[in-house]
Amino acid sequence: MNILLIEDEKKIAQFVTKALTEVGHEVVSILRGDEGLTAATTKPYDIIILDLALPGVDGIEILRAVRERSISTPVLILTARGSKDDRIQGLDEGADDYLPKPFAMEELIARVHALTRRVGAQKSPILRMADLVLNETTRDVFRSGTKLYLSIREYGLLNFLMHNPGRAFTRTELCEHVWKSALDDETNAVDVYIQRLRRKVDEDFPVKLIQTIRNIGYMMQETSVEAPVATAA
Ligand code: CA
Repeated sequence: MNILLIEDEKKIAQFVTKALTEVGHEVVSILRGDEGLTAATTKPYDIIILDLALPGVDGIEILRAVRERSISTPVLILTARGSKDDRIQGLDEGADDYLPKPFAMEELIARVHALTRRVGAQKSPILRMADLVLNETTRDVFRSGTKLYLSIREYGLLNFLMHNPGRAFTRTELCEHVWKSALDDETNAVDVYIQRLRRKVDEDFPVKLIQTIRNIGYMMQETSVEAPVATAA
């Protein structure tokens, strides 16, 4: 699991990061609320562990911003504000679980794993965008009912982008998320795979799903065909 931890108490942050890393998770630890807000709304994570009292932006505001953007990543609130009202507010704003401080590390890990299972159980194997359908169980991809034949790398890239519709990624991010490595010529490699995907996924269809975002990289989103520009005779 790729976990975002937003917690300003350095000791707790280090302790949680160490414990979760030891059981095999990747943890990005952020100590400020404003930076946490940016991370939570611009990068994909499997779980967000969120403190409430934070410098910059409050945890509840971060939670609200995440849910307003329809980001459904499970959020576990971790805070000293353990009163019933605080708990209710957190859950009302879209948190999935709540753990008051002080807490035992075993309990935090157990709750993170419970959230992971819950999300995994709800997850449908079918991803859709316009008439593009990807089945994660069979790894079949269809566009307008026509089966597309993708290589493992093309499939991995498409799968990742379809999981994050409307979110732009840099070439470096795509390399890290899709292939778990930083390739030497990553820019070139991503461009090559995007080009191949476009040929298979978009070329023969009026609605283009793979978008180039200037100065950033790529994203997938359904946009209608641009109307032809009228030219003066
Ligand atoms: Ca705090």
